[in-house]
Amino acid sequence: MEGKTIVVWFSCGAASAVALSKTIEKYGEKNNIIACNNPIDEEDRDNQRFLKEVAKYLGVKIHFVRSKNYPFQSCKDVWEYRRFMSGPYGAPCTQELKKRARQDWEKANPHDYIVLGFTAEEKNRHERFILSEKDNLLPILIQESITKKDCYRIVDSWGIELPRIYKLGYPNANCIGCVKASGVSYWQLVRKQHPEIFKERCEQSRRIGAKLVKYKKNRIFLDELPIDAKGRKLKNLDFECGLFCEEGGL
Ligand code: SF4
Repeated sequence: MEGKTIVVWFSCGAASAVALSKTIEKYGEKNNIIACNNPIDEEDRDNQRFLKEVAKYLGVKIHFVRSKNYPFQSCKDVWEYRRFMSGPYGAPCTQELKKRARQDWEKANPHDYIVLGFTAEEKNRHERFILSEKDNLLPILIQESITKKDCYRIVDSWGIELPRIYKLGYPNANCIGCVKASGVSYWQLVRKQHPEIFKERCEQSRRIGAKLVKYKKNRIFLDELPIDAKGRKLKNLDFECGLFCEEGGL
């Protein structure tokens, strides 16, 4: 391939960091590679440290892409304005701050291919994306059979620490207190590691009327979750919503 423009969407997760590195390695010499990121206010601040270190290590500039309607890139603003936090078909925050912001940018910036951090075990997500949105997706990690675990190992070999959120037990580097999560274990983890965020979600979801957590087969308000409730084990380091968090849940 020569003379093409390839856009890599970097999500501050290990997989998209490796996808960016592999794209540069494979196509960088003869093509124009553009790296983009949607910063989200509810993500841990250390994500941006990771982004900067990866950019420096790979020698690239990462462009920030923001929503036209929500320039502060705040999920809380979206939930407040839409009076809606999440439902069976996804969450408005990811639609507005990630999907729509990305699509607007892609419309305004001609390109030939896009790269996402879909790993070898995510062929189905890759196929779904092709069917539902775009067929110009380069499956760089899938082509090279690179798994999530490989990505953590590769980033480690660069001497870069993963975003600290992983070490706190979270399964991905997405927003803390992600409203698409409905599992008891996830919310107990937020309550333990980030009590102030847990409190904020309790207050806002109660006001908006969103029952965020599933407990004993029923949806309940977060502030109704018993302090000693137990859920299933969280799959640590096993899931990266990344830019496309509309496609997954916890
Ligand atoms: S990670 Fe969760 S809270 Fe953040 S944008 Fe995606 S769905 Fe919304």
